Amino acid sequence: MFFKDIAGQQPVKEHLIRMVKEGRVSHAQLFAGGEGVGSLGLAVAFARYLNCLQPGETDGCGSCSSCVKISKLAHPDIHFVFPVIKEGSSPTVSDDKINEWRSFFLENHYFSAGQWFEYISGGKKAGMIYADESPVILRKLSLKNFEGRYKIMIIWLPERMNDTGANKLLKILEEPPQNTVFLLVSENPGGLLATILSRTQQISIPPIDTDSLTIALSSRFNVSEAEARVASRLARGNYVQAVVNLDMSKDNSGFFDLFTALMRSTYSRKIFEIVKWVDAAAPLSRDKMKSFFDYATGMLRESYMYNFRQPELVYLTPPEEEFVKKFAAFINENNIEKMVGELQVAYAHIEQNGNARIVLFDMAIKLVTLFKS
Ligand SMILES: [Zn+2]
Repeated sequence: MFFKDIAGQQPVKEHLIRMVKEGRVSHAQLFAGGEGVGSLGLAVAFARYLNCLQPGETDGCGSCSSCVKISKLAHPDIHFVFPVIKEGSSPTVSDDKINEWRSFFLENHYFSAGQWFEYISGGKKAGMIYADESPVILRKLSLKNFEGRYKIMIIWLPERMNDTGANKLLKILEEPPQNTVFLLVSENPGGLLATILSRTQQISIPPIDTDSLTIALSSRFNVSEAEARVASRLARGNYVQAVVNLDMSKDNSGFFDLFTALMRSTYSRKIFEIVKWVDAAAPLSRDKMKSFFDYATGMLRESYMYNFRQPELVYLTPPEEEFVKKFAAFINENNIEKMVGELQVAYAHIEQNGNARIVLFDMAIKLVTLFKS
């Protein structure tokens, strides 16, 4: 993880680099930002920069012995503490899952707490930083620095530490060992002890700006810039959410064609076309059909709103927007809620195992009458 691997956050990166260059690195820092904004990646890139033997103007060099080790998250002076899940009654600490941590982080860079717990335990339980961790932290801090300039302790989600552990951490922060830097990476600083907060220098990590998130997604995931932009806008600066949005739009591919075919056939009242549409839609699985009704509901609402909305607030892909631009004229306050109501009725009938062909045909005929009004 380098600074350059992190989407956006230019002012934060510059701030961190400036601290190193000016030699005023505080011994306890709190990286505070919401899910998916890149706080953990920034902490790792900062740790790299702090211990790099030939740091460049804007990033670690990548080739010195320190950088090579941090690239594998295996630097002897850079330690990680993160929530884990207790198995049985034996002490449970981060080191038990360090191999999983390394591969998960190196593969994903951005992830939520839920995704991490899913990875280590199938997501049945939420993890914690247990009191068992405190003696391990103390032992690691008492070791002499192996090779790094700084001994760095990165604690991901310190708000998941129980009170005993948090109080022990506070003691350490009150009397920090020399050349040690704590990087607390929190999504919920309000969940930390006030006494811990007051011991740390806080660095706020804002949501990722849409342009940077768009570029990051389209270069990582082989999707068009237009698709990446829609996913980014809807994610509001959260990389993890943007990836979920991209997956969802892949799952929904085909819905757009199905929706436009339904609207065209019902608007023009061509029974033969409506029957063809039912033939195409009826074989979908029930779950898929329910997702289609959700999609169609969203498209109808967007079409209605299109009549009033500022163009930059439209959350549609370019082909969807192209369609909606013309279609919006047929959707108005007299039919929008009734149409959405018909989709909801169809959804409920499919959920109750109604005959798909009958439900779909019935719904389409209702739409015909609603277009007429
Ligand atoms: Zn280096």
